[in-house]
Amino acid sequence: MSDPIPAILDRIDDDQPRALDRLMELLRIPSISTDPDHADDCDTAADWLVAELTHLGFRATKRDTPGHPMVVAHGGEGDRHVLFYGHYDVQPVDPLSEWNRKPFDPAIESTQRGKVIRARGASDDKGQLMTFLEACRAWKAETGKLPLRITVLFEGEEESGSPSLVPFLRANREELSAEIALICDTGLYDDKVPAIVTSLRGLLAEEVTITGPDRDLHSGMYGGPAMNPARVLTRILGGLHDDAGRVQVPGFYDGVGEPPAEVAEGWTALGFSTEAFLGEVGLSHAAGERGRSGLEMLWSRPTAEINGLLSGYTGRGFKTVLPSTAQAKVSFRLVGGQDPDRLRAAFRDWVIARMPPDCHVTFDGHGGAAASAMSTGDPVFSLVRRALSEEWGREAAFVGGAGSIPIAGYFQKELGMESVLTGFARDDDQIHSPNEKYDVESFRKGIRSWARILGALA
Ligand SMILES: [Zn+2]
Repeated sequence: MSDPIPAILDRIDDDQPRALDRLMELLRIPSISTDPDHADDCDTAADWLVAELTHLGFRATKRDTPGHPMVVAHGGEGDRHVLFYGHYDVQPVDPLSEWNRKPFDPAIESTQRGKVIRARGASDDKGQLMTFLEACRAWKAETGKLPLRITVLFEGEEESGSPSLVPFLRANREELSAEIALICDTGLYDDKVPAIVTSLRGLLAEEVTITGPDRDLHSGMYGGPAMNPARVLTRILGGLHDDAGRVQVPGFYDGVGEPPAEVAEGWTALGFSTEAFLGEVGLSHAAGERGRSGLEMLWSRPTAEINGLLSGYTGRGFKTVLPSTAQAKVSFRLVGGQDPDRLRAAFRDWVIARMPPDCHVTFDGHGGAAASAMSTGDPVFSLVRRALSEEWGREAAFVGGAGSIPIAGYFQKELGMESVLTGFARDDDQIHSPNEKYDVESFRKGIRSWARILGALA
């Protein structure tokens, strides 16, 4: 059989108006997962996807969970079996007054940078998951079938912490296990360069409360003899980093490695400008570890950040209080093999060891998730990379994810399955914010990218 790809790509371009209509139909369903008032809408979105997948020849079902339903579908045949993941739920829309149109009344708008589809979920993640479905549609229409065995998993709780996901993966391990997962919920490196996320930082957070005197005191009457917990807390936090930007908690860097040479070289080739990156937020000097590049600081190095501080009088004017308590919220972005449980204990010990007499400290722990790294040596990575590079005319970048996308870790842990994370969102898509949009061109090239990827994997 001759190469069907050119005809499939032409078909995708010809079918764009219909593909946009279909996406807008899905965008009209206000499937906000965190809001119980929208539970029926989440259900409707799942039904809509089941109908679409069925129309494309998949055996598609809506599966109940204690929360919002999952959509699972199976289609195609062949030796290679891939799982595609996306989520149909969206973030809440407030503040509504900052939207320039109704969030669930999508429309194509012309902007200085080209046409965009504006609506909640246009980019995260409905537009992205539809790029995959449209690629399947084009393959089916042109060749009569899907080019390989595909299982689809659409989640409806991604924006509300995925409470049902792990139990669902465990209960359906056999059905959902494939050779590799394709996850479409990330972005381009920039407008013209596609990206595959190959590592994701983990997260650990702690609230620290230090108590000194048993009530707030007047500094004129007690200042001098009485220990001030704000003084204790700031001294401790001030010692969290040394002058070279390295975190001082003992054992903090245990398990931190360097990225594979191929990945590191790719980062250098991206020509990332830390100055330009910081310039956009009014800064000019990198504050991370000395001797590390901006991309290393973002993608392969762990961090400690103070996210909140509370103590004493913070209202208008002045009050010479000697506060009873001082509180800080501290979080760590983790990389490589850093163990969140061990680090939590190490951080607490480090703080406790710095407590003077008359003060005591309590901790309240939040989220602890290890980093995840994808095995870029897997041949599927090279196939996906080549297909993306052909579509975009630029070598697809292997990038680190600065945020946290737990799904790839769950697939690894629960199903023993590696993930390829690629997507077509842009930095200015305003996901989770008012006026979310997806570029029409991202949508078109996203569909074409998946069509090529499916062909390459077949
Ligand atoms: Zn998302």
